[in-house]
Amino acid sequence: MAKTRPGISVKPNSGKKEIASYTIRGTNKVVWVGDCVLMRPSDTGKPPYVAFVEKILSDSRNNVKVRVRWYYRPEESMGGRRQFHGSKELFLSDHYDIQSAHTIEGKCIVHSFNSYTKLENVGAEDYYCRFEYNAATGSFTPDRVAVYCKCEMPYNPDDLMVQCEGCRDWYHPACVGMAIEEAKHLERFVCSECSNDDTSQMDNGFSSTEADEQVEPKRRKR
Ligand SMILES: [Zn+2]
Ligand SMILES: [Zn+2]
Repeated sequence: MAKTRPGISVKPNSGKKEIASYTIRGTNKVVWVGDCVLMRPSDTGKPPYVAFVEKILSDSRNNVKVRVRWYYRPEESMGGRRQFHGSKELFLSDHYDIQSAHTIEGKCIVHSFNSYTKLENVGAEDYYCRFEYNAATGSFTPDRVAVYCKCEMPYNPDDLMVQCEGCRDWYHPACVGMAIEEAKHLERFVCSECSNDDTSQMDNGFSSTEADEQVEPKRRKR
């Protein structure tokens, strides 16, 4: 038997039992513990809430409830949505709830940032998470993130960026005076600093094949 931590012990005879899955009403979609789900907001004008399913509980009358850990959308966070937040960005919060399983309206997938950026097609059900969010303080973990381009912004996967063959930094076309259409058809790009500065690259022992995976982007506080 697993030990129960002090303060959160569950009565053995509360009539609730953990079940492994729940089939969303009116569908054949099965939600398992560990899945991410979309839950109907009380305000119908709002997008669905996104949650991680921690437990599925059924009582003696077969009322099914789920213990969820909420994902927050950037606009629901204290700092609000910022320029580098993507449209599919979510923050994993430390805010838990018990909800009726009836509010589940669908399933979704919350990818790591890395795997999200590698998706060939982003579907409606695809989201990503790169930050954990403390709902009480409004703070994020990690509190530092790699920044790119002259504008020193974290990467927003909704925005096209081009990579410099010299320094391997990524740039927004607009920040280097390039049209988006031009950037899409670009075969190679060298930023203005690198094109003026061939010798210092050599001094750094820069090698384009090795640097590809190993480049350590600039890290600064957001
Ligand atoms: Zn920029
Ligand atoms: Zn460069």
